Amino acid sequence: YLFGKKRATEVAHMVWKHVVQKGDTVIDATCGNGFDTLEMLNLVADDAHDGYVYALDIQEDALDNTSLLLEKSVNSNEKHLVKLFNICHSKMENAVPRNVSVRLVAFNLGYLPGGDKEIRTKSDTTLLALEAAKRILMPGGLISIVVYVGHPGGREELEAVESFAAGLCVENWICCKIQMLNRPCAPIPIFLYRR
Ligand code: SAM
Repeated sequence: YLFGKKRATEVAHMVWKHVVQKGDTVIDATCGNGFDTLEMLNLVADDAHDGYVYALDIQEDALDNTSLLLEKSVNSNEKHLVKLFNICHSKMENAVPRNVSVRLVAFNLGYLPGGDKEIRTKSDTTLLALEAAKRILMPGGLISIVVYVGHPGGREELEAVESFAAGLCVENWICCKIQMLNRPCAPIPIFLYRR
């Protein structure tokens, strides 16, 4: 329930739960420290279902952190359902097999918490990644983006994401954002749902 969620990522996780089903294939486009990857794995996998999570990041450190978190949190069978890729998210189509439809592509933009703040998502590659996500998303799928506006380039990236969303065809897409009006620097969850 929205008003019980303190963080933008928790709001995103709540929305994912209503969209993602066991056995789905999903993409974490910015896996960072792995918290979103773990959340996705718990949504797609159980004893009866092998859902897959494709987790991407441009930093080896991020993939190592994600791998460690998974080792601590899930059994080895479940860990094998996460496929880690050290690539830019604009290349996500190279990671996911061609015949697979994707239920969720999630972006948690910005820099790696605890890492180098200069290595962060950039509007141009984020836009290319959104285009790629649009191509591989199934009907009934979701692109979820958490945008941070407190660091340099953050506002520009928000504008780029908003203008991408505003250009999606109204018959096929429902696009919305959740903005905390009394917290101007709070991260902003944006959801692009493909009907
Ligand atoms: N989802 C993560 C978690 O749950 O811990 C947090 C993600 S962090 C806010 C943003 C991540 O995006 C960083 O780890 C950074 O290395 C990564 N990143 C930056 N540019 C990227 C790109 N072009 N492609 C993929 N990942 C990128």
